[in-house]
Amino acid sequence: MCRYYAHNFICKHTTHSFAAFCEPAALIQTRCGNHTIWQTIYIEEYCDDCKMFITQPHTFAHQGRRSA
Ligand SMILES: [Zn+2]
Ligand SMILES: [Zn+2]
Repeated sequence: MCRYYAHNFICKHTTHSFAAFCEPAALIQTRCGNHTIWQTIYIEEYCDDCKMFITQPHTFAHQGRRSA
């Protein structure tokens, strides 16, 4: 099984990034498709998806406001 880093973000999402081939995979330089977590890295940030969501402009901020 090939080794992957697990990145744990503060939003509780996890992403895996490739770290090293296992022996059979190294021979063909192709990832075997099985993941084993080598190291878990804690990141004090939101993942890309959440970051995108959080930094989106508040396009609906002025909707729903009623004039008296
Ligand atoms: Zn492998
Ligand atoms: Zn996230």
